[in-house]
This record gives sequence, C-alpha cells and structure tokens, in this order.
Amino acid sequence: MKFEEAERLKKLPPYLFAEIDAIIRKKKKEGLDVISLGIGDPDIPTPPEIIKTLCRQARNPVNHRYPSSYGLEEFRRAVAGFYNERFNVELDPETEIIALWGSKEGVSNIAYTFVNPGDYVLVPDPAYPVYSIGTAFAGGIPFKVPLKEENGFLVDFDSIDPEIAVKSKLMHVNYPNNPTSATCDAKFFKDLVDFATRYDILICHDNAYGDTYYGDIKPVSFLNIPGARETGVEFYSFSKTFNMTGWRIGCAVGNRHAIASLGKYKTNVDSGVFNAIQYAAAIALKHYSSFSSKNNHIYKQRREKVTGLLNNMGIGYYKSDATIYIWAKVPEGYDSVSFSKMVLDRANVVITPGSAYGSYGEGYFRISLTINDSRLEEALRRIGEAL
Ligand SMILES: *Cc1c(COP(=O)(O)O)cnc(C)c1O
Repeated sequence: MKFEEAERLKKLPPYLFAEIDAIIRKKKKEGLDVISLGIGDPDIPTPPEIIKTLCRQARNPVNHRYPSSYGLEEFRRAVAGFYNERFNVELDPETEIIALWGSKEGVSNIAYTFVNPGDYVLVPDPAYPVYSIGTAFAGGIPFKVPLKEENGFLVDFDSIDPEIAVKSKLMHVNYPNNPTSATCDAKFFKDLVDFATRYDILICHDNAYGDTYYGDIKPVSFLNIPGARETGVEFYSFSKTFNMTGWRIGCAVGNRHAIASLGKYKTNVDSGVFNAIQYAAAIALKHYSSFSSKNNHIYKQRREKVTGLLNNMGIGYYKSDATIYIWAKVPEGYDSVSFSKMVLDRANVVITPGSAYGSYGEGYFRISLTINDSRLEEALRRIGEAL
C-alpha cells in the first residue's frame, strides 16, 4: 500500500479522545456552548516583560541564524542561577544543562538517546502519555508501575519485581504529578536514588509542575538529593509556570554524561531553540518568584472553588495544593469513559477520563483549572444538573 504508516505509528494505542473530539466538533457545529475542563493549557497570558524581551531580541539579526543545539550561554547561566536560588542545586551551565523545545521533546528524545529495542523502561500508571509512547517509538518496552491512592500516588519501590528492575534501563517519574496532582517529599526522592543506584537505572524526573504549588511546602528538586546527579536528569518546563505552552522551551539538567548524550542525539535531529525565545525564558527565570506566585494565587482560588462545588455534589477528589488539576472520583454507576461521555452529552462539558492516562486511572476523571472562575462555576453547575 502507498503511504502505509510505519509499525511504530500503527502500534499506537487507540486514541481515546478521537471519539470525544468528534462529539465536541459536532456540538460546536450545532452552536452549543461547550466548556472544556480537559486540557492543561494555561488561559492566563505570558507576562509582558517576557514578551518584551522576545520582541527586542527578535529584531537583532544575530539571533536570526542557527542557534546552538545545547542552548545559549546566557540561557544556561540563567537556568543555573534559578536552580541554585529556587532548588538549592548547583549546576555547571557548560555540562549539566541543555535547552529543549519544551520538556515533552526531551522526555521523548531521552528514549532515542538511551533505549535499545527490547529494553525495559519503568513508567508510572497513570501518567503523562509521552513516557510510554516515547519508549515504544524507540523500540523499548514500557513496564507500568501502578500509582495508587493508598500510597499517595507515589511509586511503591518494594512492589517492583527485581527481575524487571534489573532489565530496566530508564525510569520516568513526575512530582508534582499530572494527572493525580500528588506531590512527593525528599524522602521519596532519596528512595528513588537508592533504587536507581541499586539497579543502575537512569532516572528521568519530569519537574513540569515544580513551581505550580500553593501550600506551605515547596516542591523539592530530585537533584537536591545526594547521589541524584549520578543517577539521572530532571526536565524543567516553562509552559505551566510562566504561561508559555505555545513558546516551546524547556531544559534538561543533571547528570553530565546523560546531558552530553541527549545533546549528541539532538544535534542530529534539531538545530536548537530560537535565541530570542531563550533570552525571553532567561528573563522569566530571573523573575520566577513574582510570576509564579501570581499564577499560583489564581490556581489556589480556582481549586478551592471547584473542590467546594464537588463537595456539595458528593464527588470525592484527591486533596492537593499543587498542579493545575483536580483528580476526582467517578460517581457510582459509571466508569471513567462512560462518565466523561455522559457529562459531555448532557452538560456540554469536557472532562478527561482517568483511563486515558493508564489502566490505574480507571475510576477517576481529571479537571483542569485553566479557565476563568465564571466558566468553572458554570461547568460544575451543569455537571451537578446532569447528575
Ligand atoms: C504540561 C506537561 C509538560 C510540559 O511539556 P512542555 O513540552 O514543556 O510544554 C511536561 N510534562 C508533564 C507531565 C506535563 O503535564
């Protein structure tokens, strides 16, 4: 057959959202007001200081040429300064930091950098889908590690079969967590470092929500733990913290051999991030505290509003003070998909079925807090009526 897709595409799991997407399109065509609580994409604009820097740097012809694949020196120094101030982690800008086209790119390319066909990769379930799909694209085998509510959605290292651990090349973790909103403490990261050291596994910690929190306890960096730098890397994203999902910028930091190898792979498939965006991201990091606290204040209020309304409806949820998500319990009589379909059908509200993030997400649904108060209220009111 002409244009037959490669096996790696044909083997992708069926796209759960395809059917839901079709229903949404049909409803919108009919002129119905559909509210989406489905996508984790900040509605608040990027702070003006960041945009100003982009515009100024875009006018400089020096920035019109190919950037370095590893990232501008100014960008990498800004990341080092930020990690030192925010996470108390000292990084060498030359060898321990690389710029990315968003952390999604890094999370998927780390598989091409380290995973051979047949290698095992430990992937949490439920999780951001890129961890397993990136692994599978590189020919690896994603081995699902359940995240259970009774463990606070943390990985239970004792439950991982040593025979699987020995065969595993890499492990993905993500705290504060999407989709469950769970957080971890330094003790968990210490156990993670011990586990990785024992089995010689490269840890990939996705720190996309490291600055999306509003409790008294600040999330810690995985790299803050003694020995972490010998066992892995951390991905930091500008997308959620600075409302920059559309800009496509992030970074990987940590083990210098892993960073060098990721860079070796990336120089062969991309040619770096537009310098003007890197300068703008450096400004974001310089003012991280004021930018992130403004956002976090808004997310805190939205979470309180939604959890209050869920309480009134008798819908359970996982209590958290981090991320832009609420991980809620599907009411009696439904599973994740049937509940999401019912809500879309009767309330014209989009929620994400927990099973879209893995089989251990069954029984839950995810609400994203990235729309304004009045729309959130309206959406919850309609869900209440539909029930
Ligand atoms: C949103 C998100 C990211 C961000 O990816 P970017 O490519 O930096 O926009 C990464 N990991 C998780 C778990 C996310 O939810």
